[in-house]
Amino acid sequence: MLWLHACHRCGGDLTEDGISYEAYVICLQCGAILTMDQELALRAAGRRRQVTSGAA
Ligand SMILES: [Zn+2]
Repeated sequence: MLWLHACHRCGGDLTEDGISYEAYVICLQCGAILTMDQELALRAAGRRRQVTSGAA
């Protein structure tokens, strides 16, 4: 999974890293690691964007 320009710190690209049961989301540009809350919000936003595409 990859989120383009989704980093809260630098606007860089976020990707999943780590092994499956300890996976975390990290920024490719600045190395920021999302908190669990931020990661959940990101995943929820990704799903919402598919459903409401074009509504905003
Ligand atoms: Zn970043």
